Amino acid sequence: MVRSRMLDFAEAQARLLALANPLGAERVTLADAVGRVLAEDVRATADVPAFDASIMDGYAVRAADLEKALSLPVAGESRAGAPSPPITPGTAFRIFTGAPMPDGADTVVMQEEVRREGDVAVFAKVPKPGAFVRRRADDLRAGDVVLARGTRLGPPHLALLASVDRPTVGIARSPSVALLATGDELREPGSEPRPGTIPESNGLALAAMMRGVGARVRILPKVRDDATATREAVEAGLDGADVLVTVGGVSVGDHDLVRPALEAAGVVLDFWRVAIKPGKPLAIGTRARTLALGLPGNPASAMVTCALFVIPLLRAMQGDRRPFPTPVRARLTKAVERAPGRLEFARALLGGDERGALVEPLTHQASGAAWNVAMANALAVWPKDAARVEAGTLVDVYPFGELGL
Ligand code: AMP
Ligand code: MG
Repeated sequence: MVRSRMLDFAEAQARLLALANPLGAERVTLADAVGRVLAEDVRATADVPAFDASIMDGYAVRAADLEKALSLPVAGESRAGAPSPPITPGTAFRIFTGAPMPDGADTVVMQEEVRREGDVAVFAKVPKPGAFVRRRADDLRAGDVVLARGTRLGPPHLALLASVDRPTVGIARSPSVALLATGDELREPGSEPRPGTIPESNGLALAAMMRGVGARVRILPKVRDDATATREAVEAGLDGADVLVTVGGVSVGDHDLVRPALEAAGVVLDFWRVAIKPGKPLAIGTRARTLALGLPGNPASAMVTCALFVIPLLRAMQGDRRPFPTPVRARLTKAVERAPGRLEFARALLGGDERGALVEPLTHQASGAAWNVAMANALAVWPKDAARVEAGTLVDVYPFGELGL
């Protein structure tokens, strides 16, 4: 049964998480793991770094030797990638960045502070013992948890996994998404502009957003506003997908055929009205283990609801420990007048000056406008019941990166 009560945003998000079926895990090489979510705790199998090493080009010494004399014979060399012989007390070793410390040496003096006189190194002053040495296990000890299950992997995580000798990693399986755009007016971008038609613009943006969080997206042929065609397209999308996302046709207009099509296909709709702006008409339902989300067709609404619902859902299905974006607080640059009643996500520019973070709402907030989503870099949040938000107020702001936009 369709619930038609208006849901608060937090309530809608909580229900969404409850619907997220966890996906199984798969093993991939590190290069394929970016944007995906760890399905295992990764531990260091050895100390990192594995040996004491120099972090400068210079000379390895025993600091105590320089207390006695500031010149030492250069008796050997240690270079990156090869083991070093031990140092004899009273001598110095030439050493390079990343090279192992010779046994017995405890300190590196950078070459800028050393003068060479033939085979003798003359030091400007007595160094601080231990200077410019990166110690074994400075970063991690064997057995330490390096990254916990549920971590979303970015490029630095790949470097970290490689640094603990992992060629592959266990991640959540990629959610498979079928994406369906609906509407008689839609045509291919660049095709003949017949009167009354518009280029289809949502599909690419939504597919890119969802791929960005690890989904495999199948874009279905767009469907006309015809009950039978819509039902068949919805059926085709539900088959074999973890999630079906539809765009458009989910409001209450005569030609809004998605809700009946979903119900005819056996989807149980869980809710469809959320007290947010943009994006009030929103359908979410289940058929067995497949989820269906009906997003509004207006480009701004489609992208915002995808960011607020679909992206967190896809993250949660992958076991992401932080499926919802974290807002930052920023000071509003000018007053906003508004109709109270819905939590509003306004397209905005987030920046800052010496006094801290500042957010400037874009002037044009109509939900049909794709162009001003492209001009913005953040969504600013206006409280549900406020009729006016004063300049200077600290408000919640979601940077686009956090939203998958
Ligand atoms: P609907 O949600 O179907 O009532 O559509 C709302 C508005 O969004 C209408 O002006 C549609 O023409 C437009 N629209 C719907 N789907 C798309 C799409 N895929 N790309 C661009 N505009 C769309
Ligand atoms: Mg439509």
